[in-house]
Amino acid sequence: MEFNILNHFKGLEEMPTDPLKADEIGTSLFMTGNMGPQISKKMDEKAKAAGMTRRNFIKSSLGFSAAMLAANEVTGKRFFEVGAAEAADIDAKNEAIHLARASSDFIVDVHTHVCTRPGHYQLGVNTSERGMWFVQLLDDLGKAFGMANGTRDMNVENYGKLILEESDTTVGVFNPFGFREHYGGEDMIPMEYQVGVRNKWPKSTIMLAGGLTPNQGLGETLDRLRMYVADYKISGLKLYTFDATPQKGWWFDDEKLAYPIWEECRKLGVKNIGCHKGIPFGQFYARYAHCEDFDAAADDFLDLNFIAYHSAWPYHNELAALKGFKPQRKNLYCEIGSTFAATVTSRPLECAHVLGTLLRDLGPDYVLWGTDSLLWGNPQWQIEAFRKFQIPDELIEGHGYPKITPEIRRKVFGENAARIWGIDKQSAMSAKAELTATATA
Ligand SMILES: [Zn+2]
Repeated sequence: MEFNILNHFKGLEEMPTDPLKADEIGTSLFMTGNMGPQISKKMDEKAKAAGMTRRNFIKSSLGFSAAMLAANEVTGKRFFEVGAAEAADIDAKNEAIHLARASSDFIVDVHTHVCTRPGHYQLGVNTSERGMWFVQLLDDLGKAFGMANGTRDMNVENYGKLILEESDTTVGVFNPFGFREHYGGEDMIPMEYQVGVRNKWPKSTIMLAGGLTPNQGLGETLDRLRMYVADYKISGLKLYTFDATPQKGWWFDDEKLAYPIWEECRKLGVKNIGCHKGIPFGQFYARYAHCEDFDAAADDFLDLNFIAYHSAWPYHNELAALKGFKPQRKNLYCEIGSTFAATVTSRPLECAHVLGTLLRDLGPDYVLWGTDSLLWGNPQWQIEAFRKFQIPDELIEGHGYPKITPEIRRKVFGENAARIWGIDKQSAMSAKAELTATATA
């Protein structure tokens, strides 16, 4: 994620957040976003109805259901399929969790990160001022979500703890950040550090490579790509079309700079190519966050899958048009990390339009689940919010969006990712069962 959450969610840093209790994070986001004051008032009434003090109520799992219910009441629309009992009675809440889990138990989080490295990031020593803008943003975010040491806590150990053990995530797909010009000549998250995630949890994770930009030299880029495949056995790429070189960026449809990379991917059997689109953050430039360069690349490399991370939000309409007007297209995907997280609690109407547009135009087979954790802490609140989220009827009628059925939810949560990464659901599920068993033992 890459957007200044502390300005967007006012007072978040003062809310109670335990990084192991994802519900609290979700509740806090509802209470500090655009509807915060109205939702906060309703939380008092709901705490009273549950016979609890406000503080205990907010810290309990009922608080998150109550916040979703309050958002429905404040907006006058049913964005969340939550019954009143789930916000007042712990047995009803547990029953609802059980039912939701049974309906969508296979979750592939296509967008996750660790965010540190040995030596970390020190201004003027191994990190430039521009490089620090991004670190600072992520540091603040991590602290607001209960990770006391910010990015330093976004390490390999917490990846396992917060994503694989404490949330319902079955498989985590993770990728590094590059931008080495800003980080003392070394990638912000070097491959040799992040590979520790896969080494520890080989059955529950999928590793993508990153930090490639042809502006560092095409020959060097192709060499690194070959090395990633040979030494790290990568399962795809997640790239950035803005970069930290003097050229500032590049495009996927550049026949001289980019096409040789896709041709090499083809030879090496690297099929899934993601790119950060939308959310122009920190030190980077918005023009490279647009996705029109996917158009020609997707047509010229039909055997590769192109995945727009963040779904190009707030330019998701441009992405949707690349399929809406070209229904023959079968290799264009989107991923909703940070986009869903940043909108669902504070601008649910926008969230419904974004998801509705993607599901209608790209289609339910091409939308992928992602949370951008560890940047947003434990992802469980996002999983629960998506299990409950719905596009209200009045938007379905007016815009032709599909209703989010249990089948669509399962596709987005895991089946689409399993298809393109060839994940064996049964073995991933048994690895998950083992992990949870050892965590609670
Ligand atoms: Zn990310």
